[in-house]
Amino acid sequence: MDLRALLRPTDAADDPAPWVDEAATPRPALDGDTTCDVLVVGAGLTGLWAAYYLLEADPALDVLLVERGTTGQDERGIGACSARVGLDADGIAQRYGDAAAHDARAVLRDAVVEVGGVAAVEEVECGFRFGGELVVAGDDEALARLARQATAATRWGDETHVLDAAALADHVGVEGAVGGTWSPEAARLDPGALARGLRDALLARGARVVDATAVARVSAGAAVTTHGTVRAARIVDTRPSGASRGAATLATAPLPEATWAAVGLARGEVLAHCDGLRVVREPAGRLVAGCAPAARRGTRAVGAAARSADALHAALVALLPVLADAPVTHAWQRPLAAPGALPSVGLQAEHAWARSGGTGPAAANVAGRTLAELVTGTQSALTRAPWVRRG
Ligand SMILES: Cc1cc2nc3c(=O)[nH]c(=O)nc-3n(C[C@H](O)[C@H](O)[C@H](O)COP(=O)(O)OP(=O)(O)OC[C@H]3O[C@@H](n4cnc5c(N)ncnc54)[C@H](O)[C@@H]3O)c2cc1C
Repeated sequence: MDLRALLRPTDAADDPAPWVDEAATPRPALDGDTTCDVLVVGAGLTGLWAAYYLLEADPALDVLLVERGTTGQDERGIGACSARVGLDADGIAQRYGDAAAHDARAVLRDAVVEVGGVAAVEEVECGFRFGGELVVAGDDEALARLARQATAATRWGDETHVLDAAALADHVGVEGAVGGTWSPEAARLDPGALARGLRDALLARGARVVDATAVARVSAGAAVTTHGTVRAARIVDTRPSGASRGAATLATAPLPEATWAAVGLARGEVLAHCDGLRVVREPAGRLVAGCAPAARRGTRAVGAAARSADALHAALVALLPVLADAPVTHAWQRPLAAPGALPSVGLQAEHAWARSGGTGPAAANVAGRTLAELVTGTQSALTRAPWVRRG
């Protein structure tokens, strides 16, 4: 299958991921110069979460979100809201110490629950299913490695269950799998619907959200945009830094029940292959697959799958052969952070920032919550984390 014609560039604003079957209604652009208490630059999930927690801390704040594209339209994730991020607990411990690793794991596990909890409270219909994450082993050696990792993970408070082939088959029908692991701290969701729902919750609380307005320059107390200058006591900058490489992601057409009966994932589980491939059954019945950067660098085949939609499709069909003839309707590139990335946030004078585009919806929640706490001067495990930089 040649998917190159479907493959879309990373940064095109009019290029929705399949999550956006229902197009987001654009908000008006900024209408000239204005002032606010807090300006949030970028209305991706990190910016939306930052605004959400800012208003939760102080409902009287005048918060303005400025988005270059259309809020909720350009969400490019695979819909896996997992506590597992690019850097595992051992990596965090090596970099920052054992206590930081323990805290980070707790914060990330909590973020998955937090995302689902806010979606429920705010009545955001984003298909949140707390189905956990499956990791599949293709041979006994891989299963033994997963079992060792499951034991080691308990040190950091992570719960992981080792599954034999029959127990795995109860979750997913993977060709040739000898078993795997299941951990509870992951959910599937529709990230576009989550972003649109958060936007609507913010509007209901009196925040202003403007689309089609690019911030050109940020300095202390002011930002110049394409539609006017914003003066703000505090600025929260969530623009991704630098040019990012793309990671291939694809989505099938909604699949018939017979195919889903063979694949499984009926409880909203996120399926992860040992070497980085991730698969999600999205709420409308599409299957979405992408190559997330794994803590353990993968095989050559999966490395290729991260770069090319055709290679990704081949890796997916090798895992789930029932998909061989399933039509692929979308293929796109999503930003790929460097392996080992954590949410990176900081505060310098009145300017707070988050970098690296998050590393998934749970990390975006952590980054947004941390930004809000830095701005409001709240002391917590989030703001004390060693990766939080202060100027
Ligand atoms: C390593 C990695 C792993 C990931 N894994 C997953 C996963 O498992 N599941 C999943 O669903 N997603 C995943 N993602 C996708 C990503 O986490 C989500 O898309 C998330 O929403 C990122 O949110 P963000 O707000 O941090 O960044 P973005 O969504 O990139 O938000 C930044 C916003 O700023 C806006 N902006 C940029 N420049 C300007 C400007 N000059 N003026 C105004 N606005 C501007 C952009 O238009 C954008 O809306 C992953 C991403 C990475 C990098």
